[in-house]
Formats: sequence, C-alpha cells, structure tokens
Amino acid sequence: MSKRTALITGVTGQDGRHLTELLLQKDYEVIGVINGQRNDRAEAVKAEFPDLKLVNADLADQSSLVRVLSSVQPDEIYNLGAISFVGLSFKQPELTANVTGLGPLRLLEAMRTLGLEKTSRIYQASSSEMFGKVREVPQTETTPFHPRSPYGVAKAFAHQICVNYRESYDMFIACGILFNHEGERRGHEFVTRKISNSVAQIALGQRETFALGTLDPKRDWGYAGDYVRAMWLMLQQEHPDDFVIATGETHTVREFVEAALAAAGLPVDVERFVTIDPQFQRPAEVDLLIGDASKAREVLGWEPNVRFEELVQLMVESDIARLKR
Ligand code: NAP
Repeated sequence: MSKRTALITGVTGQDGRHLTELLLQKDYEVIGVINGQRNDRAEAVKAEFPDLKLVNADLADQSSLVRVLSSVQPDEIYNLGAISFVGLSFKQPELTANVTGLGPLRLLEAMRTLGLEKTSRIYQASSSEMFGKVREVPQTETTPFHPRSPYGVAKAFAHQICVNYRESYDMFIACGILFNHEGERRGHEFVTRKISNSVAQIALGQRETFALGTLDPKRDWGYAGDYVRAMWLMLQQEHPDDFVIATGETHTVREFVEAALAAAGLPVDVERFVTIDPQFQRPAEVDLLIGDASKAREVLGWEPNVRFEELVQLMVESDIARLKR
C-alpha cells in the first residue's frame, strides 16, 4: 500500500514541527510548505527532519497554493500557517487578515479548483482567541465569538468560512479550536517562552530581571505534543467537525512565572525578577480563557498527558540545557 501524504503549511512553526514528528512516526509522506525567499527556519526544520520534503508557497499567493496542491495531491492538509502572534497582529492588522484570515479561504478555493474537495481532508487551526471577551466559562464549541485582536478576528473569519465550505460543498474540513499550547519548540516572541528562557538565563547568571506587560491574564495552557495528536485524530473521523482542545485548567501569567522560578530552583519571588513594561501590553486584553474539551474526549478519545507544572518544568529545563550548550 502506498504511503498516505500530508501537506503541512506552517511547518517551520512550533506545531508544524511537532506534527511532522508525529506523522513521520506514522509513516506518512510529509511535505512542508515554506515561504519567503530566504527562510533560515527552513534549513533548521530540514536538519531536524531529513525525511521531510519542502515546497515553496505562500498563503497570500493563490497561484502558489494551486501549484503545490496540484503536484502533491495530498490525502490530508494541515493548515497551520498564520501570522500567529497577537502582538504583531495589532501592528500589522492587514497582513494578519490577509494571511491568517484569507489564507485558509485561498486553500479551500485551490482545493475546489483542482477537484480535490472530495478526496483531500483539511484541518484548520482555529484558536481560543476567537472567544476573546468570553461570553461563558468554560468555553465550548458553541460559545459565541468576541475576538479582542486582529488575530482573533482573522481566525474567526477563517473558522466561519471553513464551516460554510463544509456545509456548502460537503468538504471534509475539521476545525480544532485549540487553547494555548506551548513547549520546547515555542517561538521566543510568545510570553511562555519569554518566561522560560529568561528564567533559565537568570538561573545561569546571565541576567537578573526581565520585563512583561502584565501578570494577570488567565490562560488554559497545554503541551503542543499532545495537541497535534488531536489534529491528526480529527482527520481520521468518519465525519468532519469542530473540537475544542484544552486542559480545562486555567493559570495566570504570574503562576507561570512562579512555576518557572521553582523549576529553576530560584526563590519564588516574582517582584524580585519581573518588571512591568507597558510596551508589552495589548491594546485590548483577553482576561480569562478556559476550555471544555468534553466533546474531544468523547468523540476522539483525546486526553492531554502533560499538565501545567510538568509543561513549565519541561520548558525551563530545555532552555537551561540549550543555553548551556
Ligand atoms: P507559529 O510557531 O507562529 O508558526 C506559524 C507558521 O506560519 C510558521 O511556520 C510561519 O512560517 C508560517 N507562516 C507565516 N506566514 C505565512 C505565509 N504567508 N504563508 C505560509 N506560511 C506562513 O505558530 P504555532 O504555534 O505553530 O501555531 C500553529 C497554528 O495554530 C497557527 O495557525 C496558530 O495561529 C494556531 N494556534 C496556535 C495556538 C498556540 O497556542 N500555539 C493556539 C491556537 C491556534 P515562517 O515563520 O517560516 O515564515
């Protein structure tokens, strides 16, 4: 039997790398989309996964998507590519709308143009940031959206267009509404990685303090390795659907810092190590996110394996080891 083929956009990102690892283990042929004329992260991901094949395309360039889908003819498409950093989305809202919002629409249209809408299955990376100023606690698949950033708005459009195409054209489109997930591959621009890396530097005597925008927001943080398993499970079902993927626990940014300091063997004294700098604050904040993943548990049989303290410890230990090298 020939291998199943998976195409991943956003392969150089955190989830793209975890998913590549998972799908190669499952004996897929994995093809990753890279964008840009000089992409250093492409070299890193190729070195990490020699069996991964890379192709050039951009979610903002329809013809490049048509060409790639036409040559790859994937069984499964994982659309993870996005302008994904909320902070940047406030600075470049149009770019965010174009890539994060319209990118998935371009992919769906490319599938239809090529007649792949009945043979390829697609996963869309939806986000808990769509809930924003939350209307209920915890959030489920039916909680109304109230996004609080250009990123959240773009993801809400992408999510709704996926639902619309699923209903209009009977396509296999699964949307994972994933709550924050982190790990040793998290980008350094995100607050959790900033904390684990800064705490690791303090533990190694390389710095004394670091700055954050706020310590108050509450997030439901899971481990990326657990969450990409849910993406794959969604595409193995008989019918496409939407699923919240979350741990069901919420913690403040302050608690993340405290756990990181403890993991590094430092005094758990947040005020001693953290300064507050308004330049890192968002114009509109999401105060509380906590997800209810009951449907994913029941239908997909999915459970998170890594819990909060373990996640923070894993990130701090990984950063200490990397900085020592
Ligand atoms: P990430 O590390 O920021 O990766 C984003 C990826 O998108 C990178 O590989 C990036 O490529 C690619 N990309 C950016 N612009 C592109 C374009 N114009 N065309 C094609 N690719 C482009 O994000 P992540 O944490 O892995 O998240 C994966 C997906 O899940 C994203 O859609 C994100 O919004 C969503 N999500 C993430 C979380 C979370 O907590 N991690 C939660 C919910 C949803 P280069 O950098 O190489 O250019």
